[in-house]
Amino acid sequence: MSEFDYDLFVIGAGSGGVRASRIAAGLGARVAVAEERYFGGTCVNVGCVPKKLFSYAAHFHDDFQDSAGYGWESGAPDFNWSTLVANKDNEINRLNGIYEKILKSNNVTIFESRARITGPNSVSVDDKTVTAKHILLAVGGWPSVPGYPGSEHAITSNEVFYLDKLPKSIVVQGGGYIALEFASIFARFGVETTLVYRGDKLLRGFDEEIRDFITEEIGRHVTLKLNDDIVSISKEHDGLKVLLTSGIELAADEMLAATGRKPMTTDLGLDTVNVELSSSGGIKVNEEFQSTEPSIYAVGDVIERMALTPVALAEGQIVSRQLFGGPKKDLSYENIATAVFCHPNIATVGLSEQEAIAKGLDIDVYTSKMKPLKHTLSGRNEYSFAKLIVNRSDDRVIGMHLVAADAGELVQGFAVAMNCGATKADFDNTIGIHPTLAEELVTMREIRD
Ligand code: NDP
Repeated sequence: MSEFDYDLFVIGAGSGGVRASRIAAGLGARVAVAEERYFGGTCVNVGCVPKKLFSYAAHFHDDFQDSAGYGWESGAPDFNWSTLVANKDNEINRLNGIYEKILKSNNVTIFESRARITGPNSVSVDDKTVTAKHILLAVGGWPSVPGYPGSEHAITSNEVFYLDKLPKSIVVQGGGYIALEFASIFARFGVETTLVYRGDKLLRGFDEEIRDFITEEIGRHVTLKLNDDIVSISKEHDGLKVLLTSGIELAADEMLAATGRKPMTTDLGLDTVNVELSSSGGIKVNEEFQSTEPSIYAVGDVIERMALTPVALAEGQIVSRQLFGGPKKDLSYENIATAVFCHPNIATVGLSEQEAIAKGLDIDVYTSKMKPLKHTLSGRNEYSFAKLIVNRSDDRVIGMHLVAADAGELVQGFAVAMNCGATKADFDNTIGIHPTLAEELVTMREIRD
């Protein structure tokens, strides 16, 4: 008989927590999970899944317009926000149920309440103390809103999926993933959309040419206020007044702060254990995802490595396998592909040109800007852009960046090739599929100056 109630106590039933619980239970561990909010975490409830559904909804706007050049004649269709939100809610409820079922069918004990750590092997939940040999923190992150006057009037990605009605106008603050995705979405829903970003071009951290390109593309549909920021928000009788550092005043129905996310490590009882935090509140872990308190592990957004669902899934799986005797699996943070679902999509894998140079690599760069065939007849003023970074010493393709419709779908397969060490010669020897955008990636011959 074990001295502990459970072998593993997981706090947080999001992507990382559910995966870790399921794998651990499958390996014979006695597992409990505590979740105070919703099964599936940010991704399922207020992140990737509903955002992608909204993004599909937004693309219909373009598709209806584009169809005219192909001979389709129809009136301008109406968009009904309430229908979208209700259908999205139904789908999310269904997914919540699936996540709960995964836990139950694997005999994981569920506590639907907040859990707090009370010691290296103990947790307080539902007014009682339970003990566990290992504790896994998979508590995720939470939107962070700067503290300017009136910031309480801003909504975040937590609220944006549940607005009672579609705003007529919206100000979006930020130049990262969420800001670009929602600015694209609202602009397609016919909302007058202004994006305010403190930098001179969007998506800091991405390849500079991609930043230039997407800033121009987004600017075709969204009013951009760059090198500017929010000073204050005030509530007026007919909406919000948003004051910018440039002195401009914007009137808007809603203001979406998409200004990053912070690890959710407050009020978790961490003061009772020796878990070290980073300056931004993230949990510091070693290569095994073990915190500075040996019995406590952490995965997902709370460790601030890569705030991406598939990364949290992989991390959760690794922890459970290593604790309970499953097959060993390593996780490399190199060549993890990611996509921003703005219009057009951006997808990227590997190094940016600037990262490659900073590493001292001698590189060749290939770029191509093209008008997608689809838009020859649709007449849409939208371009695609592709970029490859090649390491001269071994000819390996070490960076791929694509701005194009469905770029995420296209780049995923190339990420496999890059993880297998594909060279530029391998790309060149691959016959393209004509006429596709992906073909461009295997027919880039001219080295950029
Ligand atoms: P990001 O870190 O991507 O972007 C935050 C933006 O807010 C940046 O442009 C940043 O500016 C700006 N910002 C931060 N603090 C301030 C401030 N005090 N005042 C003004 N501007 C500020 O965060 P998001 O919230 O967009 O998304 C969080 C994370 O979630 C992403 O990094 C990503 O990992 C994940 N995510 C992934 C998605 C996907 O895979 N498609 C979709 C959505 C989110 P600056 O650049 O100058 O610092």
